[in-house]
Amino acid sequence: MTAFFPEGQGDPTVQPVPPSVVEKVDAADTTLHNPQRAVISLGSNLGNRLETLQGAVDALEDTPGLRVKAVSPVYETQPWGVDPGSQPSYFNAVVVVKTTLPPGSLLERAQAVEEAFHRVRDERWGPRTLDVDIVAYADVTSADPALTLPHPRAHERAFVLAPWLDVEPGAELPGRGLVDGLLDAVTRAGVTPRADLELRLPE
Ligand code: ATP
Ligand code: CA
Ligand code: CA
Repeated sequence: MTAFFPEGQGDPTVQPVPPSVVEKVDAADTTLHNPQRAVISLGSNLGNRLETLQGAVDALEDTPGLRVKAVSPVYETQPWGVDPGSQPSYFNAVVVVKTTLPPGSLLERAQAVEEAFHRVRDERWGPRTLDVDIVAYADVTSADPALTLPHPRAHERAFVLAPWLDVEPGAELPGRGLVDGLLDAVTRAGVTPRADLELRLPE
């Protein structure tokens, strides 16, 4: 039997979902209708760093519902938040993607790509073959510790801001302002462009 509810008074057990919370619909098998822009930061300081970053770019491109739109130059970066010299230096890059994956699904995919490169999680900010962070997802802001948007430390990291600015000169970090201005406010010490290295944008 089909229940009938007068117009505007639907089944009270079914909560209407306003469009503004669409980003919270995060089951892995959901997709959005209109692709959203996201900015992803890649870092590697173990193994063949350049090969790993390229592998990560390619793995992202291989993701259903995701296209890589831009790949930044490579930077070599002293480890952040730990005693410099205690770990090998990083190679860092930023990719801009368009995706129909909602934020939570994009994070799951990012973590699957890390695992494919044998990322081991032990100490905080420890050395790693691959780190894939979501810097920003459209203009979504979220304080959820499992997925904070924008990334809570992106605005203070030259190794994120500099490569992002390279591929998107007018870039803006939601809630923080223009990347250009943010980069002026942080130190670029220990963040060196590696013009001799290059990541390929997948065909
Ligand atoms: P940092 O977050 O300072 O860059 P990290 O990348 O070394 O440090 P991880 O150990 O890779 O930290 O991640 C810890 C947790 O951070 C992840 O399990 C994830 O749930 C959470 N997290 C929250 N916001 C984000 C985000 N925007 N991108 C990626 N991970 C996030
Ligand atoms: Ca990180
Ligand atoms: Ca991370």
